[in-house]
Amino acid sequence: MTTIGSDIGRLLFPRFCKVCGSKLNQGEEHICTTCLRRLPRTHFDPMALNPVMQHFMGYPAVEHATAYFFYAHGNAYTRLITRSKYSDSPETGRYISRLVAQELAGSGFFSAIDLLLPVPLSAWRKWSRGYNQSEWIARGVADVTKLPIDTKSFIRHRHNETQTHMTREERWKNVQHIFSVRRPERLKGRHILLIDDVVTTGATLMSCVETLAQAVPDLRISVFTLACARNE
Ligand SMILES: [Zn+2]
Repeated sequence: MTTIGSDIGRLLFPRFCKVCGSKLNQGEEHICTTCLRRLPRTHFDPMALNPVMQHFMGYPAVEHATAYFFYAHGNAYTRLITRSKYSDSPETGRYISRLVAQELAGSGFFSAIDLLLPVPLSAWRKWSRGYNQSEWIARGVADVTKLPIDTKSFIRHRHNETQTHMTREERWKNVQHIFSVRRPERLKGRHILLIDDVVTTGATLMSCVETLAQAVPDLRISVFTLACARNE
């Protein structure tokens, strides 16, 4: 019955690949097998000094950082990020991050982590969008690792302005003082995994790291993003 039910469901509500738009086959979710195989993977060593980790060289609290695939404007794979973010399909981010977490689980990347900390949205932004994409990515990681997700200890007061046309210095000023730690005692002595959908300039994540490290001096931090800009 279940198979018949799902067959009928597929006929009535066909699902499409978020990247190429083709109809998904049985067993495929969110992305077709071909697009998944061609995903522009970074192949970064999550435990080494890779290009994402280079953003955090000045921050001794940061132990490891990695991103899974390359993000470039105009590339169809950016839809995995933009559609998850703006088209009311947060399950896509969760699905992809679950695949990534299964792969990373063998690398030791998660073994010392105590809890998952999604990069927060401001209350207004979360309300208007309906959800925080980073929280859904964290859920995918939690599905595999069973690590707890903390969405209460670290908050965002406002959203930074769009950074596209700013210089590096302007971008940095733009993200100063937008986060704060509400419950530093909950993070004391922990090793957190800071989670975001994409890293471009690194300014937002560096601002998170700076705020967290100042509020909780013995905090250990690792960073996980689904994607990173090609020129990282
Ligand atoms: Zn596809």
